[in-house]
Amino acid sequence: MLADRLTMIPGPTPVHPRILAALARATTSHLDPVLVAEFKSALDGFRTLGRMAEGKPFIVAGGGTLAMEMALVNVVAPGERVLVVSQGYFGDRWGDLAASFGIEAELLRARWGEAVPPEQVAGALAGGSYRAVTITHVDTSTGTGAPIAEYCRLLAGRDELVILDGVCATGGIDEPCDAWGVDVLLTAPQKAIGAPPGVAMCLFSPRAMARRHSLARASAYYADVLRWLPIMEDPGRYYSTPCVNEIFAVAEALRIVHEEGLEARFARHARLGAACRAGLEALGLATFTAPDCRAATLSVMRLPEGVDDAAFRREAYRRGVTLAGGLGPIAGKAFRVGHMGNIGVAEIAATLETVEASLASVGAKVPHGAALAAAAPLLGGEGA
Ligand code: PMP
Repeated sequence: MLADRLTMIPGPTPVHPRILAALARATTSHLDPVLVAEFKSALDGFRTLGRMAEGKPFIVAGGGTLAMEMALVNVVAPGERVLVVSQGYFGDRWGDLAASFGIEAELLRARWGEAVPPEQVAGALAGGSYRAVTITHVDTSTGTGAPIAEYCRLLAGRDELVILDGVCATGGIDEPCDAWGVDVLLTAPQKAIGAPPGVAMCLFSPRAMARRHSLARASAYYADVLRWLPIMEDPGRYYSTPCVNEIFAVAEALRIVHEEGLEARFARHARLGAACRAGLEALGLATFTAPDCRAATLSVMRLPEGVDDAAFRREAYRRGVTLAGGLGPIAGKAFRVGHMGNIGVAEIAATLETVEASLASVGAKVPHGAALAAAAPLLGGEGA
């Protein structure tokens, strides 16, 4: 176990003791050679994770929403149009964000729990003119993993820039940005990367950087990538004081990601996700997300008829496991379990046992021992 309480929500996720130790290092000058080396290591680790060989990585104090803003305002000017491919709450956020900067957004919204069909994206591209297309890799509200490779095939060779929100995916699901043709990957560390929240992370392709250079100015000061570029190329320089301890933590988290190896890490996420869902379904819970687009990083489960969401999650909390509620139209009707970052078999097993016991405590009929029995063959013997 990583801690006395299991935080099994779709971010923040449990933080490995090595990362907590990095966070607890003595705070140094932001120009200290030790910090500068760790900053470079974090930037390199992020670029290789995003598989964008010539990408420019940016890590600045903030969060996922700042990363979304940074991605958008550096490549799209006020008055220009973007196509938003949305599979839930975080996809829809692009519409609000664009509106705040006078950018026109056309939203393609999937039914909750489903992905936008690629043909619909093709239709919009044929009928409209857009500067960029935004895609949410995994929407944390619906558990939908978007068919990115299919969308990107439609976008290959076209002028629209591809902006990918990897906040609920990066570090847990492969994101081969060069192969896909992604121009900006944005993410945050508190989910599948496994560090505490605190930074915005963006990876800009050469085409995205060229686009920023071609704009007379971006609608940003702090979020302007051109102001940050000299610092990211040489973290010994100053623009705005970096969050020194969080940089230590993110560098350590990315070291852990690469020590495990990307292929092994993505396979572990897929296996633990499948095991978690098999266990929960064995309790009689239905997965909310459609079968063809279930993400490896979280599960969204319908609550059985008559089970009070707040009472159920309060009981799970009392037993040591924090679960997340449903958002938007599924609030009170579903709950969400995160299974990403540096968790393993023990965390999944404890979560399944806790869900079973908590459901029974609030009066639901659940088959005793069924969750672990169904998950066990998928969990395998390793303790990663
Ligand atoms: N995008 C997605 C897919 C998210 O899940 C989240 C946060 N849950 C965000 C963006 C926003 O990130 P933050 O809360 O760090 O601003």
